Amino acid sequence: MSPSNPHAIVVGAGVGGLAAAIALRRRGFAVTVLEARDVPGGLAGGFDVDGRSHDGGPYILLDRPGLEWAFERLGEKLSDHVELLALDEVYRVRRPDAPDVIVHRDLDRTADGLRASFGAREADRYRDFVRRMTRIHARLAPLQRAPFEGARGLLRRGLIRESAFLLRGLGAHLRATGLSEPVRDALGIWTHIAGQPLAEAPAPLAFVPALVHGHGAYTVRGGIRRIAEALHRVALAAGVDCRLATNVVRIVRDGRRVLGVETAAGDRMPAALVVSNAPGIATYARLLDPPVEALVRATADLPLQSPGVAAYLHADVRADVPFLSFWLPGGGEKCRVLVHAGAVDETRRGTLRLVSPTDHAWAERAARDGQGAQLDRLLAEPWWRDGVADVHVVATRVPVEWGASFHLWRDSMNPTMTAAFMRRGRLAHRSPAADNLYLCGSATHPGQWVSFCAISGILAGDRIDPSNYSTSQLF
Ligand SMILES: Cc1cc2nc3c(=O)[nH]c(=O)nc-3n(C[C@H](O)[C@H](O)[C@H](O)COP(=O)(O)OP(=O)(O)OC[C@H]3O[C@@H](n4cnc5c(N)ncnc54)[C@H](O)[C@@H]3O)c2cc1C
Repeated sequence: MSPSNPHAIVVGAGVGGLAAAIALRRRGFAVTVLEARDVPGGLAGGFDVDGRSHDGGPYILLDRPGLEWAFERLGEKLSDHVELLALDEVYRVRRPDAPDVIVHRDLDRTADGLRASFGAREADRYRDFVRRMTRIHARLAPLQRAPFEGARGLLRRGLIRESAFLLRGLGAHLRATGLSEPVRDALGIWTHIAGQPLAEAPAPLAFVPALVHGHGAYTVRGGIRRIAEALHRVALAAGVDCRLATNVVRIVRDGRRVLGVETAAGDRMPAALVVSNAPGIATYARLLDPPVEALVRATADLPLQSPGVAAYLHADVRADVPFLSFWLPGGGEKCRVLVHAGAVDETRRGTLRLVSPTDHAWAERAARDGQGAQLDRLLAEPWWRDGVADVHVVATRVPVEWGASFHLWRDSMNPTMTAAFMRRGRLAHRSPAADNLYLCGSATHPGQWVSFCAISGILAGDRIDPSNYSTSQLF
């Protein structure tokens, strides 16, 4: 690499930032990643306690094709880096007022379970729904790997009927199935566990059953953290300069150009372009200097998603405790989930996690004490105790701790991916604030899954027009 290669700075080594860094490096840029934490991976990173591996955030991969696509675009093969573990029983949803709903990889087995618990009509309606979603997903999936073009993109690809599908929220699509409420809730569980009402969730979440029965659902041996670790290794091998424990406090702007960044240690680093994997809203409200007031205003009112409360446990766990048990307590209480990694990964025997979402506004009001009390209540509940003994809480996280540890915007995981925000096009990869400022990460893609964040890093890279930088400098 010649010293004259244009220099790109990526702020943040989350999945999105690492993917963007590798993509830019492959295109000939000299790339420096500046990460505030002393480990890469962001929310998709993990930690060890007593030699046992824990994922901090993610526990399931519902979009294997998207992740494989992302690795391929980076010149890598996913299976060379991580071992995906296919889930046979993907998840079960329990509630006090209805039979359990168990979703298996196998459609027939899932439908048979629904027939036994809810009747033959329910099983038939489920099959119809999966069939319909599989068809629509096949038509819309390419859009998830392309920059957002709104209605124009849909029309250009002849997806007129599918655009009507996108106009309605998840709740409307689930209601239209005629399925009973417990089954609808079980299908929309990813919305419940994100603390979001079904009515506000975007339509593409209706694809999850089609993905589960079509491509399968997975976790990773050793933890989903291995994906971020793999991206970090690939970045280093490609020659990306990854600097950990380096907090960026300013992205310095002069008119329509950013000049570089300034770190908390006072270093000023010039750059030909900056890609921010810091939270999208924080990029505009906290980092960009001088700020673009219109952008700060436009993003300030987006609804925020709290990362919720989590307890990481070591315990004696019976082998039949499933990988994912969701609990819908009713009475206005939010969903909870028990994650039993050891059910499918013998390297993580005896590791459990309890997670529950918190409403963002509530969490801000409740502050650390109220959030801690909520976690204590969760730990004291009986629903997750069956088959679990000798429990040791080895770590906990409440929203203020997520916020401080991961440099989140107001302790949030970014704007909630509502149907309305998705239709608006979320935050653009190419920032309207400056010609050489780009965004990547969950706020720029219609979902917060790890695969989406990796794709977003690649799409951010794609938005960078190499002709803005001298080609003789590029190679
Ligand atoms: C509890 C929980 C459960 C989840 N479950 C799943 C799941 O089951 N499946 C799934 O696919 N996804 C799941 N997710 C979502 C997924 O983990 C995230 O959406 C994804 O990891 C976000 O990646 P990102 O690149 O957008 O950003 P982040 O992971 O937020 O990374 C951004 C990085 O930028 C750094 N940074 C921020 N500001 C600065 C600064 N000023 N200077 C330097 N560095 C900075 C941060 O420290 C961080 O490392 C879950 C998330 C949580 C919290």
